[in-house]
Amino acid sequence: MAWDFSTEPEFQKKLDWIQQFCDEKVEPLHRVFPHAVRWPNDAVRAYVRELQQEVKDQGLWALFLDEELGGPGFGQLKLALVNEILGKYPAAPQLFGAAAPDTGNMEMLAAYGTEEQKERWLTPLINQEMFSAYSMTEPQGGSDPNLFKTTAVQDGDEWVINGEKWFTSAGRVADILFVMCTNGMYVVPRKTPGVEIMPEPRNHNHIKYTDVRIPADHLLGPKDGAKVLAQRRLGGGRIHHAMRTIAQCTLAFDMMCERALSRESHGAIIGEHQMVQQKIADSYAKLRMLRLFVLETAWKIDQSSTQEARTDIAAVKFTMARVLREISFDALHIHGSLGTTDLTPLQDMYASAPTMGLADGADEVHKATVARRLLKEYRPHEGYFPREYIPYKVEAAWEKMRPVLAANPALEAAAEHYRDRQSRRG
Ligand SMILES: Cc1cc2nc3c(=O)[nH]c(=O)nc-3n(C[C@H](O)[C@H](O)[C@H](O)COP(=O)(O)OP(=O)(O)OC[C@H]3O[C@@H](n4cnc5c(N)ncnc54)[C@H](O)[C@@H]3O)c2cc1C
Repeated sequence: MAWDFSTEPEFQKKLDWIQQFCDEKVEPLHRVFPHAVRWPNDAVRAYVRELQQEVKDQGLWALFLDEELGGPGFGQLKLALVNEILGKYPAAPQLFGAAAPDTGNMEMLAAYGTEEQKERWLTPLINQEMFSAYSMTEPQGGSDPNLFKTTAVQDGDEWVINGEKWFTSAGRVADILFVMCTNGMYVVPRKTPGVEIMPEPRNHNHIKYTDVRIPADHLLGPKDGAKVLAQRRLGGGRIHHAMRTIAQCTLAFDMMCERALSRESHGAIIGEHQMVQQKIADSYAKLRMLRLFVLETAWKIDQSSTQEARTDIAAVKFTMARVLREISFDALHIHGSLGTTDLTPLQDMYASAPTMGLADGADEVHKATVARRLLKEYRPHEGYFPREYIPYKVEAAWEKMRPVLAANPALEAAAEHYRDRQSRRG
């Protein structure tokens, strides 16, 4: 019977190494040099490279990529177990060569790039010699891609792009931008004339593309294939966010329990007050459910594909946002006034819950997708009443049991007696 929640001992050793490396080196790096990967100082960058080499030596670089593309080819389930450690440490994804938005862009390049495109962009992205951003959302509408207007027009051996994008995360500091146009996905070097980064928002950039000319071979995948490429990119991104969200929820839960045992009020440790206990018990159950759901979805992707597991990926996407919001709120609340400050990670964590409900698609859109896809598995019932209408069931049961009852008069008499009693009940 194959129903086992244990981790192979060999892989557990890798997980233990990752945990120790994160505690001893990644966490201190982040506290002393936040965003160290892009720190403008050679000594810091050299130290980062040293740590990254340790990760590479363990065969843990670019975890999300298959072996032939330079990653360890773990598959999604193992990746989930790794990410539920990395997700606690803000600097970890970059130190392991697995940070968004580059990861999704690399996945698109790996799946749809020509050999030349992979050499030009994928290899430097894997090696962090280059950084990228993803330009899909537009100012006039994000949830509905049919509202997007940015277009590329072919002019000789060039494409000319015109349009406006909004919330391109890290666009300002990217070397290349993956721009979703109505007629295809294009790779645009950020320094191309006509690419104009607006002053606000600071981190998730508003970018105007005005007569931006790029060579013909900067079209990624088939002409008119942007929606397919976007799905491929976002499907992976959503489940990876969910894996890291388990780490955030676990951290909030651990903090909640530590605090519940450490504070006193009205004659008791606060963990002895029932309303605090309820928060702890509910948070625990939500965390366990989220974790199992994410791991099972990761397992399903490994058994089939991101496309096949779409319903569950969408359901995981809105569930993680809700669970993060609820657990981080309860943890923050149990910390009292301290929880409302920026002296613990809880305020940031709670503030990130709305982001989780929007980035990679608004929750409502995913809920609609889930419901629509699930309803395809069902048919309407005939007549006025559902198939589980009990009088129908009784009638069908009598039909099925008639030969058994006919062969056993005592059983038949008992059945008729019971039926008569039921009918007299009124
Ligand atoms: C931190 C962060 C980073 C991001 N990074 C990127 C990035 O790198 N690249 C990129 O291209 N985009 C990025 N986005 C944008 C993100 O993809 C969009 O926010 C998302 O697709 C929703 O689009 P919108 O913000 O325009 O909301 P809108 O489309 O305006 O939707 C607003 C609200 O309307 C409601 N709504 C919309 N449609 C429906 C519906 N069908 N049914 C029911 N209710 C609905 C929902 O309540 C929704 O929250 C990022 C967003 C965030 C928050």
